[in-house]
Amino acid sequence: MTTPTTSTHPSHSGQAVEPAAAVEARSIADIRSAVLQARRRGLPVAVRSTGHGSLVSPDGAMLISTSSMTGVDLDPDRRIARVRPGARWSDVIAAAELYGLAPMSGDTPSVGVVGYTFGGGVGWLARPYGYGADNLVSAQLVTADGELVRAAAEEHPDLYWAIRGGGGNFGIATELEIRLAPVSRVIAGVAYADIDRAAEALQWFGDHAAELPSTFTVAPRLLRTSPLPQHAGPVLAVGAVYAGDLDSAATAFSGLHAMIGAPLYDDFAVRRYSGIAVPGTRPQGFEMYRELSDGLIKTAVDSVIDEDGGNALEFRHWGGATAQPAPGAGPVGHRDVPFSIKIDGGPEVVAALAPTATGGKFLNFLADPTQTRRAYRMHDWYRLREVKRRWDPDNIFRINHNIPPA
Ligand SMILES: Cc1cc2nc3c(=O)[nH]c(=O)nc-3n(C[C@H](O)[C@H](O)[C@H](O)COP(=O)(O)OP(=O)(O)OC[C@H]3O[C@@H](n4cnc5c(N)ncnc54)[C@H](O)[C@@H]3O)c2cc1C
Repeated sequence: MTTPTTSTHPSHSGQAVEPAAAVEARSIADIRSAVLQARRRGLPVAVRSTGHGSLVSPDGAMLISTSSMTGVDLDPDRRIARVRPGARWSDVIAAAELYGLAPMSGDTPSVGVVGYTFGGGVGWLARPYGYGADNLVSAQLVTADGELVRAAAEEHPDLYWAIRGGGGNFGIATELEIRLAPVSRVIAGVAYADIDRAAEALQWFGDHAAELPSTFTVAPRLLRTSPLPQHAGPVLAVGAVYAGDLDSAATAFSGLHAMIGAPLYDDFAVRRYSGIAVPGTRPQGFEMYRELSDGLIKTAVDSVIDEDGGNALEFRHWGGATAQPAPGAGPVGHRDVPFSIKIDGGPEVVAALAPTATGGKFLNFLADPTQTRRAYRMHDWYRLREVKRRWDPDNIFRINHNIPPA
């Protein structure tokens, strides 16, 4: 454990920040002692594993890094992984693959398991198996009092409910138990089509996404710059992952063909789960929609063609298991809303796409932490604030998407 009193650290934005103290934790004891020290000194606590989601500056805080506490233990019979707080998805994917299993990870394996899971966690297996948070079986946490507690269905159920979508507000996780899916091979890739085809393809997507099997996840992206050497300029790039029975894949893919026609190029192939290489989109903005109207589609397509528009817009359909939570599921997401757009573009692009949006957010794609409340339904927000009051009444865990105590 190290505790420099002045030291500069790169933030997510690349700017140097000065925490009051910084601890590279190597054990649970290090985390507990850092939390207690922060309390004695009246400091807020910032937690960091990879730094991928550190949106709030830890200036003047006790910054606790868990990045050295890596490691994953697998119980293949129970399909459970026990994950330490510095582990990234790549660690879990590699361990699970040996047993024909896969975690509910996202589009980027270098993302940390804890931050992703506590923020909801949506990836290619969310439609068949639920959010990352839905597959959290238990967590061991150091609380704001420096106590070590376990949160699970039968132990501290209020805390267990809150961490499955409430972010890092309730304690510092020292270990997670997560469920794995019996998935080893998938069909995955990207199909590219001329941008002139984009409006028709997105209309098809808006009309027919609900009919696609839950094992099939499609993400049409509008890109300002085509990555294809033979095709310059804007392009439609439809990423898709099929995680069902391979013998039934043709039916799912017939939908994709109806959507885009003959592609300029595609790289669909049967791949290991670890071999999925469908890129994501930087969420400078994120909006959710009940339907994809013609006006919204036109605004979106124009945006990547216009000189001052966005770099990339990624459409997603939700549904499947994300819309059918088990009883007692956590507060994550607006599960009844079928579509979203991740927006890699400036404020004017985000504003142009906002008028028909629901206003709801997904915590992991929320770049503006002042809008945290919008990630929840109203009654879940008030319940989260009650749980926060019980477990962190002084709000020491506030360097995050903060939920203030009731
Ligand atoms: C390139 C990229 C791709 C992404 N793709 C997806 C995706 O496909 N799906 C998706 O859902 N999200 C995605 N995200 C969002 C990502 O899940 C969140 O940013 C997440 O918070 C990152 O967690 P981290 O541990 O890597 O980052 P960190 O910056 O280390 O942590 C982020 C936050 O997580 C909390 N946290 C981290 N560790 C702990 C801990 N031990 N105890 C308690 N709280 C903790 C803290 O609040 C912390 O501020 C992506 C992000 C990036 C940068």
